[in-house]
Amino acid sequence: MAHDLPKAYDPSAIEHRWAEYWVKENLFAIDTPKPGESKPVFTLLLPPPNVTGRLHMGHMLNQTEMDIIVRWHRMRGFATMWLPGTDHAGIATQMMVERQLAKEGKNRRDMGREAFIERVWAWRKEYGGAILDQMRRLGASVDWPREFFTMDDNLSRAVREAFVRLHEEGLIYRGKYIVNWCPRCQTAISDLEVVHEETQGKLYEIRYPVSGSGEFIVVATTRPETMLGDTAIAVNANDDRYKHLHGKSVILPLMNREIPIILDELANPEFGTGAVKVTPSHDPNDFQAGLRHNLRQIDVMDDRARMNENAGKYAGLDRFEARERVLDDLREQNLLVAIKDHVLAIGKCDRCKTIVEPKASTQWFVAVNKTPKGGGKSMAQRAIHVVENGEIDFVPENYAKTYFEWMRNIHDWCISRQLWWGHRIPAWHCTECRETIVAREAPAQCTKCQGSRLEQDTDVLDTWFSSGLLPMSAMGWPDKTPDLAAFYPTTLLITGFDILFFWVARMIMMGCHFMQGHQQDAAIKNASEPAGRKDDSVPFRSVYIHSLVRDAERQKMSKTKGNVLDPIDVIKQYGTDATRFTLASMAAPGTDIAFNPDRTEGYRAFANKIWNAARFVFMNVDQAQQAGTWSLAEFAKAPHTDKGLPGFSAQTLEDRWILSRFNRVAGEVHDALAGYRFHEASHAVYHFFWGEFCDWYIELVKPRLLAGEKAAFSNVVIALEGALRMLSPFMPFITEEIWHAVYDGKPPKQSIALAAYPQQDSSQVSPEAETEMAILQDLIVAVRNVRAELKVETKQKTPIEVHADEQVRTMLTTNHAAIERLANVEGMQFVAESLAKASGSRTSTRFDVRVVYEKKIDLAAERERLNKEIERLEKELANANRQLGNEGFLAKAPAQVVDGLRKRQGENQVVLDKAREALANLK
Ligand SMILES: [Zn+2]
Ligand SMILES: [Zn+2]
Repeated sequence: MAHDLPKAYDPSAIEHRWAEYWVKENLFAIDTPKPGESKPVFTLLLPPPNVTGRLHMGHMLNQTEMDIIVRWHRMRGFATMWLPGTDHAGIATQMMVERQLAKEGKNRRDMGREAFIERVWAWRKEYGGAILDQMRRLGASVDWPREFFTMDDNLSRAVREAFVRLHEEGLIYRGKYIVNWCPRCQTAISDLEVVHEETQGKLYEIRYPVSGSGEFIVVATTRPETMLGDTAIAVNANDDRYKHLHGKSVILPLMNREIPIILDELANPEFGTGAVKVTPSHDPNDFQAGLRHNLRQIDVMDDRARMNENAGKYAGLDRFEARERVLDDLREQNLLVAIKDHVLAIGKCDRCKTIVEPKASTQWFVAVNKTPKGGGKSMAQRAIHVVENGEIDFVPENYAKTYFEWMRNIHDWCISRQLWWGHRIPAWHCTECRETIVAREAPAQCTKCQGSRLEQDTDVLDTWFSSGLLPMSAMGWPDKTPDLAAFYPTTLLITGFDILFFWVARMIMMGCHFMQGHQQDAAIKNASEPAGRKDDSVPFRSVYIHSLVRDAERQKMSKTKGNVLDPIDVIKQYGTDATRFTLASMAAPGTDIAFNPDRTEGYRAFANKIWNAARFVFMNVDQAQQAGTWSLAEFAKAPHTDKGLPGFSAQTLEDRWILSRFNRVAGEVHDALAGYRFHEASHAVYHFFWGEFCDWYIELVKPRLLAGEKAAFSNVVIALEGALRMLSPFMPFITEEIWHAVYDGKPPKQSIALAAYPQQDSSQVSPEAETEMAILQDLIVAVRNVRAELKVETKQKTPIEVHADEQVRTMLTTNHAAIERLANVEGMQFVAESLAKASGSRTSTRFDVRVVYEKKIDLAAERERLNKEIERLEKELANANRQLGNEGFLAKAPAQVVDGLRKRQGENQVVLDKAREALANLK
């Protein structure tokens, strides 16, 4: 065996080496299963990070969860594909490059569109790979040869195809609409990109004179500058206060424009004066009212939110300056009635925090609620239907409810953005007849007037339009590729709540629309989980929504608070394996993670423990090999299967026990990972590897190794190797390193990541061995504790007396050597009478044990100990009694939980009685 593991565990040394090896050897690239090949597949799309991105704790959590699930499936023999890539991130990237230009004293408008885009590509070439490099370093087991970028030629072709098809089906249209306009970013932004902040603002009440009378109508507004674009006043038809004004008009103050009084439900008689101003170009509700009444739309602002020529003498002023001037002028004309404090939710641009201006402009939309020309369900209906039908499930389940609420109230999706970086809209406008032609490729001439002066639409598509297509486009859609046949629908999506609507919902709409009728290769589908789903148009089968990573005090990490933890820093300090394990151990579905580096330090100690255990095993094995008592061939000839521990030969209690525990834990890990309970899975492996294999099994097997027992050597190596495979998805680096060493550098596979994941073999589970071992462990721990209390020196061995039934006595006799060695005992004697009353004793349900030690015990301390013990037991019993007396609990709790509780109740009662008796004897 090449047992040259360095003395000290140094994660950085081994992690770099393996991360490079995995990529260089291309270990995670998967061949597409051949048609009809009955091979289970597992597919997962990496939520593509922005090309401008840097790894943060959220990514680290997300990628750890994905990598665990992916490695687990790969080791179980699934054709596993984890598709990596980056998103071109329209606004974010454009802003990044614009900032860079600003430093050079340049701007994009001077450069022109083409030169600017070239510059962005150059930027991307230089810096855009950074986040994927970080992923490589973390050892994410993605399929690197399949890496995509959302602006790649083939993905851009998919975007054009999707746009043109939706247009042909009448689901894409161009129209005037109120959009959220960011005057800083100078583009329309979606509702989702607007953050609303409660702000203390003002409500202004303004008088509008009724034409041809001395009367006034008072209206209220929070944005008085928009009144310059008013085209009506609305009152409610049922509002008696205004019945006499039906059909009349008012004079718009400051502009002296006559505008009608209309009857519309926009005006609520219960609210304020019951009259409202109508500004169709600057308010979404007014826009709709304007359409109902065929009102003029007067836009009074330019794209930077400065007043334009429609604003009369206010033209050229910024919107907030204009507000002050408008108020001054109204005050002067005695038209400003009142200014009241008013709490309002101000919409700000999520990206630059500029106050958003609702503004009518010409944009492109997807009509998500409309029936396509060829008939059938709307995109939204289809997307709701598949989730209702269980074709897609959400984990945690309650996110399905959130999804439905949003999907059932969804509005048309504004997909155009006034940016330069992105997929340019495949539409051309004829400068002669103004016809708009939507086409896959640039048309040579106008389809209407045959003119040749065509200009491509200057807008680009919302980034989410292209990422909404990714599950298909990254596999070659619109072509019918072998990858789509084998791998679509993808199995799982792991993502954050914040992009549930931006991305998850859009992928479902796009996938279910464009992939209608798609059938995954039947052989593969039948071999894959989950079964019984019929509709293969869905982009994924399950959506797992991961938690937020907060700081140790459960505060959200933010730059302003200065509590942001950079995962790279944590990794430098503790290693990737320990960082991953920290996240996995806290990743309970639906619970936020309070990340505390102290825990990471604990898991680094775990890695250290494994390292030292392996070194100990190797040291012994090396000696045995030199002595010729054992050789690696003994181990290597063991059959390689995923069932239990092949080749393990159970000779003794500790053998039967570790074999049983290994199999039981394999089952627990399987169940936990199948339900995405990463925390349970990692706790199970952790406890097995450290608490059972290192702390007990190795200790118990030592004398047999010293005695040169062949089976003991084989067993300890087999168990170590199995435990490494079990831990591998969680801690891929250290397990890879030790695993190669186990095989003397000549492992049966290139990587532990390609070895079989341990599955439970129920024939190797032994409840008897587990029970017996538990008694043995209890006894050893009890003796150690008593010795500590009696302050017996470590060097001094003590005799013990044990009172137990025959079965236990036999077991203890068989294992007396282990007791003597591990509990510093010299001589074990069985006694007929209970030892509960004796000093220096401990009792359990199966035995009483007494450490025979002359030194007087401290009566007061012993009394205190017993009192504490009694108190604890009474509390536990009271809890158990309460639960078992609760009808509701009994009705709901699983039978095994109730049985377990009853059993523990009985046991506790026995121990409690004994403790009370002992206390009574001390008095
Ligand atoms: Zn902005
Ligand atoms: Zn034309």
